[in-house]
Amino acid sequence: MSNLDHLHQPDCLFCKIVARKIPSRVVYEDEEFFAFHDIHPWAPVHFLLIPKLHIHSMAQLDDRHANMMGRMMVLVPKLAKQEGCNPYPEGGFRLLTNTGAEGGQEVHHLHFHVMGGPRPWARG
Ligand code: 5GP
Ligand code: ZN
Repeated sequence: MSNLDHLHQPDCLFCKIVARKIPSRVVYEDEEFFAFHDIHPWAPVHFLLIPKLHIHSMAQLDDRHANMMGRMMVLVPKLAKQEGCNPYPEGGFRLLTNTGAEGGQEVHHLHFHVMGGPRPWARG
């Protein structure tokens, strides 16, 4: 853990969502991860998958996070299927993570956007 990793940051929007201080439509929860529907969906399926551990972004990752990030990645297709993304290859999904201001990141708690469903989409 570095000083940029904290179990919970009281001022972080997504930490508040994990703590149920801000309501969300929950997609999945386990000890390590939380997933919830994006409030402004781009696609018929659009949810955010986050580690419960507060990590600001991909830029803070190091070798100690490798196993956790692997487990997070493996969750993506399971949750995409659960949320109604159609099967590969005709269906599929888009996985997106924004890092830093120039990467388009608005909420500074590491998150994967998972988007799918029939096109056209509002964006992306
Ligand atoms: P970023 O731009 O940081 O990659 O994505 C942040 C995402 O969080 C945006 O897609 C935005 O719609 C979503 N978001 C922001 N505030 C809330 C909220 O209070 N609840 C939920 N469910 N999503 C949010
Ligand atoms: Zn946080």
